[in-house]
Amino acid sequence: MDTKYIKITELNNEIEQIQQAGQILKEGGLVAFPTETVYGLGGHALNPQSSHKIYAAKGRPSDNPLIVHICKWEDLAYIVEEIPPEAKKLAEQFWPGPLTMIFRKSDVVPYETTGGLETVAVRMPDHPVALALIEAAGGYVAAPSANTSGRPSPTLAKYVMEDMAGRIDMVLDGGEIGIGIESTIVDLTGEVPEILRPGYVTREMLQEQLGKVETDQTILSNESDLKPKAPGMKYRHYAPKGDLTLVSGAEDKVTNWINQQLELAKASGKVTAVICTQETQDKYKADFIKCAGSRNDEAQIARQLYRILRELDDDKADVIFAEAFETKGMGQAIMNRLLKAAGHHIEYV
Ligand code: AMP
Ligand code: MG
Repeated sequence: MDTKYIKITELNNEIEQIQQAGQILKEGGLVAFPTETVYGLGGHALNPQSSHKIYAAKGRPSDNPLIVHICKWEDLAYIVEEIPPEAKKLAEQFWPGPLTMIFRKSDVVPYETTGGLETVAVRMPDHPVALALIEAAGGYVAAPSANTSGRPSPTLAKYVMEDMAGRIDMVLDGGEIGIGIESTIVDLTGEVPEILRPGYVTREMLQEQLGKVETDQTILSNESDLKPKAPGMKYRHYAPKGDLTLVSGAEDKVTNWINQQLELAKASGKVTAVICTQETQDKYKADFIKCAGSRNDEAQIARQLYRILRELDDDKADVIFAEAFETKGMGQAIMNRLLKAAGHHIEYV
């Protein structure tokens, strides 16, 4: 398949291409597009064939449900059984934006899209290209991240092309992504709203709106002991090809311990790398030093994380160490992704 690549510089000038992309989705094809979180791989959410194609293009297990993207609040009612009052509250505050809500699905949503579940995940992305595309496609676009299953989610269109060229109909390039980490997922089908995946919208922000909010305990724990409630969270994700270890502890201890390990790895001929912060980047002796930003700006760290994980593959790093982060606020999302990337290998020093 020939994958059409289109650069969107100014939405007004590219309306025709967006219409064309919407038509592809209506006819059951696949289009990758930018959102504010990461690039999405879009298919028509109410067409089971489209969902099959998404799973095939990503190599994703088909019990891992897709998020349905909408562009207007009014469109929600058609695909869900009921809209709980919490949803309206959260939508007023966070939509369009990086928050996915889980509802009981209506009959129009095929099980192929929900991975066989009676519930459906819905989000309204905060990106002009995404919103225009969803509108052009008729309102309902199922879209997981536009990467091969298991690889870091793409924050640049070149990474989408790397994984998806030849497998999908079109890629819309909207430049670098602003947030760089997937949406927060909150389940509204139980008694108390529950965070199933941490993201840019933090637990503290949700609590401010809803009062009581629970968090799925598997978010930061080793998943072999507990079954996560968001099916996709059980799979190893975001993993670089090299061997990644997280290191947690006081700054001096962490830098010293990592440097010792780096020396050992170098002595055995390995290519070494460190994922660190502005505060520590001058302290390491590795072949590749990847500074994710300042500890005072966790949004910047989240934005750079997936690009760094992909670069480590290009660098052919064999042994990688990453500093751990605090697990409150956005740090929870960063640690959730890093722990998955490391297969939960963390050293406390
Ligand atoms: P992605 O779109 O690649 O970020 O992945 C979407 C993730 O959302 C899945 O891996 C699931 O973990 C989660 N998800 C989607 N739909 C549901 C649902 N109905 N119930 C629980 N989790 C869901
Ligand atoms: Mg994904």
